[in-house]
Amino acid sequence: MAFKQLVFSGVQPTGNLHLGNYLGAIVKFVELQNSHDCIYCVVDLHAITVWQDPAELPRAIREVTAAFIAAGIDASKHIVFNQSQVAEHAELAWIFNCVARMGWLNRMTQFKEKAGKDRENASVGLFAYPTLMAADILVYRATHVPVGDDQKQHLELSRDIAQKFNNDFADAIGRHGFGEAFFPQPEPLIQGPATRVMSLRDGTKKMSKSDPSDQSRINLTDDADTIAHKIRRAKTDPHPLPHDEKELAQRPEADNLIGIYAALAGTSKATALKEFGGAQFSTFKNTLVELLVAKLAPLNAEMRRLNGDPAYIDSVLASGAARAQALAVETMTAVKDIVGFVRR
Ligand code: ATP
Ligand code: MG
Repeated sequence: MAFKQLVFSGVQPTGNLHLGNYLGAIVKFVELQNSHDCIYCVVDLHAITVWQDPAELPRAIREVTAAFIAAGIDASKHIVFNQSQVAEHAELAWIFNCVARMGWLNRMTQFKEKAGKDRENASVGLFAYPTLMAADILVYRATHVPVGDDQKQHLELSRDIAQKFNNDFADAIGRHGFGEAFFPQPEPLIQGPATRVMSLRDGTKKMSKSDPSDQSRINLTDDADTIAHKIRRAKTDPHPLPHDEKELAQRPEADNLIGIYAALAGTSKATALKEFGGAQFSTFKNTLVELLVAKLAPLNAEMRRLNGDPAYIDSVLASGAARAQALAVETMTAVKDIVGFVRR
């Protein structure tokens, strides 16, 4: 069965947005607007799977929204809202908790990494995170999901959940007139040279909002001096940059910086190495700083302006939530019929 093409993705309001979020996700969100209907969500229900200070959370939700708009997402043509304003996400997540299997969730590496050694003390929500993510996507029956490489495993789980729901309820799905399958198999869109931006302090760890070291990431709110300082201090190895892309596989820090450069310049790593192969890191880093500042300064200025107008941000979220909810309610009504719930 053919599903209408629809893009969905989300970003958590968990702290400082960074270059990884921008290149791995937000830049793709902006591009897809030209070819698809898009729904972009500030996933605050996901954020509270780890502790969030209630006095800080509203600011973080508005800041992610401001970043979406500042990056060029058109919230009137597309939909931008925060997850907690559309209760159907949580409602469908519950049903998916009863579809997904413990064994599936036990394999999720994000839970293992975030829970760390003290797994007994992690929230139940952190464990169930992927079923809520499946609900976020499937409550709109979305078909395409632009994400960074770290979310690939969760996307695969979303596909498994969609498939198991379609199989388990096949008779009811047919009976209610939805044909062979009620949910699509959402496709991950993970493309380009910066699908996994790494920490500036350790080329084997992903850049994260939750990394305690601010030196590990470029925040979207960093000014030019801070960006320059962080890139100059970024870990490297003692060799000049290679000519051949294959050599990057053994040099995670070089790979990361070249990937960042290529993504910002809209080119490939191979092309970037044609320019910088044989160069010292110090030379390359100067060019990288210039490019980063040129790309991030306008975004930074627009985010600052929007952060000064919370009433406007809230109106964007309210309008987006109303439009999203209208779609989500339709799906949930059908899901309730399929599952066999009695409703008004
Ligand atoms: P947290 O540490 O709280 O999980 P995060 O930095 O991982 O924060 P998320 O809100 O979880 O950010 O992810 C938002 C989007 O950014 C997702 O699509 C995710 O795949 C992408 N993303 C996150 N980190 C990176 C990264 N280092 N490189 C590329 N994409 C990334
Ligand atoms: Mg994350």
